[in-house]
Amino acid sequence: MENLKVVCPECNHINTLNNESTICIHCEADLDEPFPVEVNDESCNIHIKENEIAVLVDFYSTTCGPCMAMYDDYEDAALAFGLSVRFLKIDADKYQKVAQAYGVGALPTIIAFKKGVEVNRVSQQLSQVELDLWAKSLV
Ligand SMILES: [Zn+2]
Repeated sequence: MENLKVVCPECNHINTLNNESTICIHCEADLDEPFPVEVNDESCNIHIKENEIAVLVDFYSTTCGPCMAMYDDYEDAALAFGLSVRFLKIDADKYQKVAQAYGVGALPTIIAFKKGVEVNRVSQQLSQVELDLWAKSLV
């Protein structure tokens, strides 16, 4: 984990991990955040491009049944990862720029990124087990 760049889930400051601390040097939030981080277009891009840990982005809509059905499973899956995979959520009704940039049509769509590059995507509801296996494959 040493020297990896990690974007703060609270203030979006780009931290460089060391062995001493997982606390953001800018806002003192814990970088080892075990819950999905709600992002907008701007912060989503920062997380995708600057994180050197793997990133999952859940493009969802509050009016999409399968998206809402996956809500708890996504949150539960995130608990197992913290600093190894960052789980993000973006409301694709409110924020459309990132969804458009990556050609997201159907919701939910979950895209995995490593160091700014898309490595995989799924456009359907996934179970907690499926999310867990997928995230493990990114570590
Ligand atoms: Zn911070």
